[in-house]
Amino acid sequence: MEKIKMQNPIVEMDGDEMTRVIWQMIKDELLAPFVELNTEYYDLGLENREKTDDAVTMQAAEALKRVGVGVKCATITPNAKRMEEYHLSRMYKSPNGQIRSAVDGTTFRAPILLPGTTPLVPGWKKPITIARHSNADLYKDVEIRVENPGEAHLTADGQDKTVYTFGGPGVALAMYNTDASIYSFARSCFSCALDKGQDLWFSCKDTISTVYDGRFRDIFQEVYDAEYKSAFEAAGIKYIYTLIDDAVARCMRSEGGFVWALKNYDGDVMSDMIGAAFGALALMTSVLISPSGCFEYEAAHGTVTRHWYRRQKGEKTSTNPMATIFAWSGALKKRGELDGNAALAAFGDRIEQASLAAIADGIVTGDMAALTGVKEGVDTETFIAAVRERLEKIM
Ligand code: NAP
Ligand code: MG
Repeated sequence: MEKIKMQNPIVEMDGDEMTRVIWQMIKDELLAPFVELNTEYYDLGLENREKTDDAVTMQAAEALKRVGVGVKCATITPNAKRMEEYHLSRMYKSPNGQIRSAVDGTTFRAPILLPGTTPLVPGWKKPITIARHSNADLYKDVEIRVENPGEAHLTADGQDKTVYTFGGPGVALAMYNTDASIYSFARSCFSCALDKGQDLWFSCKDTISTVYDGRFRDIFQEVYDAEYKSAFEAAGIKYIYTLIDDAVARCMRSEGGFVWALKNYDGDVMSDMIGAAFGALALMTSVLISPSGCFEYEAAHGTVTRHWYRRQKGEKTSTNPMATIFAWSGALKKRGELDGNAALAAFGDRIEQASLAAIADGIVTGDMAALTGVKEGVDTETFIAAVRERLEKIM
């Protein structure tokens, strides 16, 4: 069989620990035998970040902007313990955070629905994608513990408002956001919904927070009307704005299959709820989408350090490669779609089908065993070999 060709590259960002091992297994077993891989390779493993004083991370981000499609392996975000373990000269910032800022993007998380499993909300038949605005809000707030009676004020842009007149001890906080960031967020969300061919929901509490949340609602509506309405209508999908409490109730009654855009704090909370309802952390995929249309695919989980330590002792581990496989398939499908390369796009679909077929046949890693009712999980190598076998059959 002739290998599938790629006209244009994807940006490949290698990473750390157990996921770095899985990365290589996926390339060797599931990709290289079938595709003439065309990637721009950046090694974001901690050793190379140290060697390049982290310049490699920004180089990867610049490449992503230029090339438009990327796939990223999980990477360590160093803390004090990691600095010692990896003999680092400084505490490098999170690669994900840096890349997200560089492309001004939003991260969309969606679960992989396993054959033969039912989410904890049994009505959910399709994955729900959560878009969390990752700028400011509660995460960059300013807080004051008030001990004595007196007035709290909010002052900005020549305006001064009394927040509350304290008669005794209490607490006060202030938050902010910027139009620029909300516009980018809105554009990334509309792009994601179009890409998936699914409705976009945006919810907040503009009846109570008329100015702050009201600004989000207005910007979403403005961007929709001016830039996306006709494309949404052509694709047969809808944009729905609704209050967050109504959105939660509708979500529970829905059958899933939509993109749900949320402010920073709401997105933090809802992504954990959706993740838990659909299964394991290792089944969450993630895609970073920029307002200008760059796509970077990755697994939502980390480098699975506990498994890595066991592997270093010579043990085989049953680490789940599904989210990393789907990161690769997502990137290859996107590249295929953008280049009009039907063979590549179809190959991306086949990797996913082959993975789900292995699971349907009862070959699963340990974490999936409990979910699917299989007695015992296999190690990662065995699982990937089972996927390979099924992939060969459908190629
Ligand atoms: P983690 O790597 O996501 O793993 C936490 C636990 O979840 C694992 O110990 C394992 O549980 C389970 N798990 C996660 N992925 C799994 C998989 N593919 N297969 C089977 N089980 C899986 O989180 P962490 O241990 O808190 O973080 C490790 C490193 O990852 C940190 O240095 C952190 O900075 C980094 N991180 C990177 C990213 C990213 O690059 N996107 C995201 C998060 C964290 P059991 O041990 O019980 O089996
Ligand atoms: Mg959370």
